[in-house]
Amino acid sequence: MKTLTTDRKTNWYSLTREGWQQFLSEIDNRSFRAQQVMKWIYHERVSSVESMSNLSKSLRATLGSVTENTLPKLIHTSTSIDSTVKWIIETESGGAVESVLIPDGRRNTLCISSQLGCSLDCIFCATGKQGFAGNLSVADIVGQVVIATDWLRSNSDYGALTNIVFMGMGEPLMNFTATMDACDIFMDDLAFGISKRRVTISTAGVVPRILDMCQRTEASLAVSLHAANDELRNFLVPLNKKYPIAMLLDACREYLSSLSDRRIVTFEYTLIEDINDSDQAAKELVQLLRDFRCKVNLIPFNPFPLSTFRRPTEHKISRFYKQLRDEGIMVTSRTTRGDDIDAACGQLIGNFEDMTRRRARYRSAQPQTSIV
Ligand code: SAH
Repeated sequence: MKTLTTDRKTNWYSLTREGWQQFLSEIDNRSFRAQQVMKWIYHERVSSVESMSNLSKSLRATLGSVTENTLPKLIHTSTSIDSTVKWIIETESGGAVESVLIPDGRRNTLCISSQLGCSLDCIFCATGKQGFAGNLSVADIVGQVVIATDWLRSNSDYGALTNIVFMGMGEPLMNFTATMDACDIFMDDLAFGISKRRVTISTAGVVPRILDMCQRTEASLAVSLHAANDELRNFLVPLNKKYPIAMLLDACREYLSSLSDRRIVTFEYTLIEDINDSDQAAKELVQLLRDFRCKVNLIPFNPFPLSTFRRPTEHKISRFYKQLRDEGIMVTSRTTRGDDIDAACGQLIGNFEDMTRRRARYRSAQPQTSIV
């Protein structure tokens, strides 16, 4: 929680409702002002405290001197032939991340980033190969949504934002506090008012933090599974060595039972040719998830430079899909979107200084294509 004692001005987009209440009670002793301030910021989209006309002059003067309206800097906007939009933005710490808007019928889903790069190193993900340079701040995360919703307002043929998913760059649960605060802001009626069912945190499986979510949020949960046995998952998602599948599924069950409504977990499964797309792999997946309240989202692998993995044929993808469906597993297959602007799943790379030297290592090494 930022206080008045810090030298830096407090960014408008860094505070939850609770944060504003605390912040304003230090200035004004009237925490109900939080509602007014947030409405001005998120609903009216005023650009300065001067326009917050129902606040007293003196409060406006104080707020003006201790807060700032600073969005991440927009570096580039590109629009795909399929209407997908990608924004590249500069974060507070100086690196660049990407967020992607995926319109689909009446739904507008924004895929946002939570970190500069990623500290995990999933073998089939372009972001992982870029290394890691740090966490995004709450304002960096919320700023991506503000930039997208401002854009949607002036492009009215798209309609309003309906869904937010943490499936851009980074592992949101490794940036836990900022992710939780950002979710509060997304779900708050005084800000974006998106339903808790439509704000989804996607994780590679950081088990202790999934358990922490039970006390902290009601957002929806997606888990990047990609394999139904530990040997294969260890290879694809190295984090599995620390938190194997059984432990991960237990944590997911616990999270579901902590929620006040009946919800499912989405398991993402990136289909990679000859790695996890066989009939046997489908059978194992059915076996694993048969009694789980879930949906499987198949994502055909999106190729990127430095990877020699391939996407399975359409025939193979639909065969895998049918195997799950015929066994009663709820399953969807994600069509690739925004391919022409490098905005598809796993293609987001941003631009930042890698602190792990992983990027250099990958550039000089031979790409790995099998478990052995
Ligand atoms: N760290 C989080 C969120 C970011 S990845 C997580 O692991 O869930 C978002 C999704 O894209 C994940 O399911 C990820 O496994 C998938 N993905 C990554 N690279 C991909 C690629 N090259 N092709 C298809 N899907 C990919």
